[in-house]
Amino acid sequence: MRCIFLGPPGAGKGTQAAILAAEWQVPHISTGDMFRVMATAETPLAQEIRGYQSRGELVPDHLTIQVVRQRLEQGDVHKGWILDGFPRTVPQADALDNLLSDLGQAGDWVVYFELPEDILKARLLGRGRPDDTPEVIETRLQVYQSQTAPLIDFYNHQGKLVKVQADAPVEIVTAHLRALTPA
Ligand code: AMP
Repeated sequence: MRCIFLGPPGAGKGTQAAILAAEWQVPHISTGDMFRVMATAETPLAQEIRGYQSRGELVPDHLTIQVVRQRLEQGDVHKGWILDGFPRTVPQADALDNLLSDLGQAGDWVVYFELPEDILKARLLGRGRPDDTPEVIETRLQVYQSQTAPLIDFYNHQGKLVKVQADAPVEIVTAHLRALTPA
């Protein structure tokens, strides 16, 4: 199972990815989590990453793609993976297509987590992460609309997009995902 979880911040991608990765026994690859770990170092790069995250901006594509390339070259990916929060821009999606063809892999599904913006904002405000302040949330939602939402059409054209209604209780969304993506 090779699956991309696409959708706005606060849609529940991380929660569902953790549940299904354990169930399918595949790695849960979250670029947000990877960057949060990288940001803890005392290096200029870590400081740069902290800056993007705290402002709600995207880490530049070249760096993001490099991090994902290194991750997908590790041995545990042969059984599949769930990519959570990557790709987030069209150049990232193009790079992923190339990377996967280099690695002799292909993504099976792109699941689009759909939910209304007022619910997203309420969820993000309730989460309490350092980048979940009202101003930063606003930036992240704008960045999502301008940079990431175009990927819905990108993957729809590839015939890989499936949609899940994400404004439902966690167990219901998990059940929908199981049904959409038979392992
Ligand atoms: P997330 O946990 O997925 O909401 O990501 C938190 C933050 O990490 C984002 O606001 C970005 O600063 C950074 N980030 C995560 N994934 C990506 C990505 N694919 N491209 C660029 N920046 C990312």
